Amino acid sequence: MSRTASENLNSPFADQLRNGFIWLRFSDFVEEEFLSYYAKSSLQRSRLLPIMAIAATLISIGIMVANQGAHPLMLGFDVLVMLPILAAALWASTSPAHHRLYQFLLAVSALLIGMWISSIVTRASLHGTPYYFAAIIAWVFVVWLILGLPFRHAAVTAMTISGMYMFGSFMWGLPLNEVIFTTLMLVFVNCMGAVCCYQLERAVRRSFLDSRVLSQLAERDGLTGLYNRRSYDHYAERIWRQSRRESAQLTLMLVDIDHFKPFNDHYGHQAGDDALREVANVISLSAQRPLDFAARYGGEEFALILYGPAHEYGRELPEQLRQSVRSLKIPHAASPTDQYLTVSVGVALVMPGSQRSLAGAIQMADEALYQAKEEGRNCVIVKESDAHIQTGRFRASVAAG
Ligand code: GH3
Ligand code: MG
Ligand code: MG
Repeated sequence: MSRTASENLNSPFADQLRNGFIWLRFSDFVEEEFLSYYAKSSLQRSRLLPIMAIAATLISIGIMVANQGAHPLMLGFDVLVMLPILAAALWASTSPAHHRLYQFLLAVSALLIGMWISSIVTRASLHGTPYYFAAIIAWVFVVWLILGLPFRHAAVTAMTISGMYMFGSFMWGLPLNEVIFTTLMLVFVNCMGAVCCYQLERAVRRSFLDSRVLSQLAERDGLTGLYNRRSYDHYAERIWRQSRRESAQLTLMLVDIDHFKPFNDHYGHQAGDDALREVANVISLSAQRPLDFAARYGGEEFALILYGPAHEYGRELPEQLRQSVRSLKIPHAASPTDQYLTVSVGVALVMPGSQRSLAGAIQMADEALYQAKEEGRNCVIVKESDAHIQTGRFRASVAAG
C-alpha cells in the first residue's frame, strides 16, 4: 500500500507504518494485536511441525530399540526429554492463546535436536566421516526459515547450535583445517539465514499493518478521519440491539453546520474543508467513552451515538458540543446567524424496545434538528417522544440509506 493512502489516518497501525519497525517490534498494543493475528494465521502449520517431530523421534527410538546397540543416554534423551517437550508443543499448538508457549517450546525442541545432530556429526567426524556436517547446515536453515520462529527466537536457537558445534569440534580436537572450514560455513549459513528470516518477518509484519490500515480506511471518512456513513449504519444496528438487550438508554445526535453553503461560497472550498476538519475534531472529542460513536453522516452533517443513561451525559453534551464549535471562532461573515461558524443539533433520547425502531429513532433526531434550524439555528433541540414525528431534514437520506 502506498504511504499516502495512510497519511491522514489517525490510527496506531498507520502510525506504526509511518514510524517503521526496523527492530521487528511494534509499540505495545499493536504488537499484541500482531502476535494474536500471527498465532491464528499460523495455527495449522504449528500443529504439523510437532506432529512430524514426534513421528521422527518415535522412528528414531524404534531404530535404536531394533538395533539393540543404542546408547542408553540417547534413548533416555529421546524418551524422557524430546517426547515430553514435543508433546507439550503439540498441546500448546491447539490454541492461539498458548502461541507464545508454543514458540518457546518449538525453539527449545529445535535447540535440543540441533545438539543431538551436533553430537552425531562430531562423533562421525572423529571416525573419519566429516561429510555428516551437511546435516548441521541443513538444520540451521530449518531453524531460520522453516519453523516459522520469530527472528529473535530463531537467532538465539541457530547461533547456540552453531556455537556449541564449533566449541565441541574444537574441544574434541578435530583437525584444525576442518574446524576452520566448518566455522566459516556456519558463519556464512547463519548470515544468509538471518537476512532471509529478517526479510520474511518484515514482510509478514508489513502485510499485517497494511491489512489493518486498509480495513480502517474502508470504515473512515477520508477528509475528517471520523467513521463514515457505512460504519455508522453498521454500528447503529449493533448498539441498538445491545441497548435493547440491556434495557439501556441511547442518545442519538445529528449535528449540521449552519449556513455552510454560503461559507464555502465566501471563503472557498479549501477553507470549507479545513472548517469541516475542525468541527469533526470537536465532535470526536465528544465521543470519548468506549461505546460512544461519532461519524460524518454526509457533507456537513455529523452523527453521534451515546450509550447509557441520558441524565449522565446525553443532556449536557449536545449543548457543550454546540458551544465548543462556536468557541473555535471560525469567522463566518456570510452567516445571518452569528459572526462565527455554528452548528444546530438535534437529539433523540430513546429507550430501544419492541415498539421502537432504529429508523424511527433517527427520524426523531432528524425532526429535532429540523426544529433547531426552524428556531433560528445555533441551538440544541432534544426530543424524548416519537409520538408526533412529522418530517425531518435527513428524511430523504435516511430513506435512501
Ligand atoms: P443550513 O444552515 O440550513 O444547514 O444551510 P447549509 O448551507 O449548511 O446547507 P446546505 O445543505 O444548503 O449546504 C450544505 C453545503 O455543504 C453544500 C456543500 O457545498 C457543502 N459541503 C458538503 N460537503 C462538503 C465538503 O466535503 N467540503 C466542503 N468544503 N463543503 C462541503
Ligand atoms: Mg448545514
Ligand atoms: Mg446539511
